[in-house]
Amino acid sequence: MIWRVPILCYHRIEVPPPGYERDRNFVTPAAFASHLAALARVGCTGVPLRDVLAWQRGDGTLPRRAVVITFDDGYESVATEALPRLAAMGWGSTLFLVAGQLGATNAWDPAAPVARLLDPATVQALASDRVEMGAHTMTHRRVTELDAAELRVELLEARERLEGVVGRPVESFAFPYGTHRAHTLRAVRDAGYAGAVTLKRWGNGRRTDPFRLGRLSVGGDVPPWLLVAKVAKLLCTPTRSLRQPHPA
Ligand SMILES: [Zn+2]
Repeated sequence: MIWRVPILCYHRIEVPPPGYERDRNFVTPAAFASHLAALARVGCTGVPLRDVLAWQRGDGTLPRRAVVITFDDGYESVATEALPRLAAMGWGSTLFLVAGQLGATNAWDPAAPVARLLDPATVQALASDRVEMGAHTMTHRRVTELDAAELRVELLEARERLEGVVGRPVESFAFPYGTHRAHTLRAVRDAGYAGAVTLKRWGNGRRTDPFRLGRLSVGGDVPPWLLVAKVAKLLCTPTRSLRQPHPA
């Protein structure tokens, strides 16, 4: 029986440089491995977000206690530290890439330590049925601050550029900083995506709005037992954000 699907949000799977130990964007490779082991011990299985979107449409099933592990921004350390661990477990995952910054750096966040982002060739090589490539705008701007023309560029161009790289449909979108409003949910749908994740803390049921899926941000300071407790809570909380009509 499936209750809810928890979606988890990670960023950099790296040992933080001195002074950034409390930065929640960093999860050390050892901590990440302990998170995966703890989730596996309680019967969870990682799937890509597209499988959840298909399940919501009534098109396909999910394993018992499915969870979605997502990675925002597309850092190189996800490819070197996280994906091999997930592949060894047979788990799927979803990366959300900043389409205009492939092969560049996290220039949108000058306060953070500089990090390399996956380049197009690596993204193409990694993309598979298990490793889903989703979009996270072109330049990592808050979509709530954009006018209609800018919104179209950040959403539509990001999808088309990534589809050119991976050679398959790009169905999933993550709102930078989690920020969204009703009109931006509609804009994501109109740009051809099948669903979008926020940073709202709810588990996702079959009737949860696919353009306003809940997701839990996970920092490196979260011990495995606490992650399991948070996931257990998301697995059985009532569905929030029921599917809304998104009139044009
Ligand atoms: Zn981001």
